[in-house]
Amino acid sequence: MTLAFLSHSDIGFHDNGWNHPEHVGRIRAITRALRDHPELFMALEHLESRHATPAELALAHDPAYIARVQQVSEAGGGRFDADTVASAGTWNAATAAAGAVLEGVERALDGRNVRSFAAVRPPGHHALRDQAMGFCLFGSVAIGARHARRLGAQRVLIVDWDVHHGNGTQALVEQERDIRFVSMHQWPWYPGSGAADDRGPHGTVWNVPMPPQLPAAAYREALLGAVDAATDGWTPDLVMISAGFDSLAGDPLGGFTLELDDVAHLTRTLVARAERWCGGRVVSALEGGYEPARVGAAVVAHLEALR
Ligand SMILES: [Zn+2]
Repeated sequence: MTLAFLSHSDIGFHDNGWNHPEHVGRIRAITRALRDHPELFMALEHLESRHATPAELALAHDPAYIARVQQVSEAGGGRFDADTVASAGTWNAATAAAGAVLEGVERALDGRNVRSFAAVRPPGHHALRDQAMGFCLFGSVAIGARHARRLGAQRVLIVDWDVHHGNGTQALVEQERDIRFVSMHQWPWYPGSGAADDRGPHGTVWNVPMPPQLPAAAYREALLGAVDAATDGWTPDLVMISAGFDSLAGDPLGGFTLELDDVAHLTRTLVARAERWCGGRVVSALEGGYEPARVGAAVVAHLEALR
């Protein structure tokens, strides 16, 4: 099995400015970390992904909103909310980010690459149906999950360990009874949603709000316990990970305490479960993570456990 490493040259052209925490240095740090691990680098299948089409984005987003993102971007950029900005390159970057996840899903389901990691930006898990939010334009993982259902996957499990609640992903998939969503996040914290009793309209959402600064084992156990609950008597055909590395100790935007070992443990555990459930199919995508060197190291640990 060859692990696919999906990215796209256009993701560098989404430009929030260097004073914004979500900058291209996050992706460059991943490239640098991989160069320091040549054996891992050589073991990956490096793929330039495609752009998601407006019709594919409309699996989860309002067509008028999709058109507006394109217009704002083509007009040179603009501001969507206090911390979500579009530049001239944003349309191509955000559609490449979603396209990488779609490509990973297609490859997992047709067996070309059972597992993949999409090293992409902007992140996606805060984006709502008709609204950008929290650095996110399009809900790449939610779009990917809906694409997987369309391609014949009966059940899709999404696990989100970003330090922030994946409110966008929840909003984009909670109506769909065959997609289950597990999100562990700091609480109370941005964006303010994700209470434990918010199970979505069909009980397909497992929110795991956690205080900051607990021992790392507490986060591991809480997340994996929720995964167990979500898959009790329900076997996914595909596992998707919203891999936010702002849950690592020292991230400027979060107070969780995960270390590289914890990333490896969580990843290995989800891979082992996926082997049991669905031939090992896992599609993972980068969400947050704002200490670039830590993001690079965490992606290496994540990839080592995925391959
Ligand atoms: Zn985050």
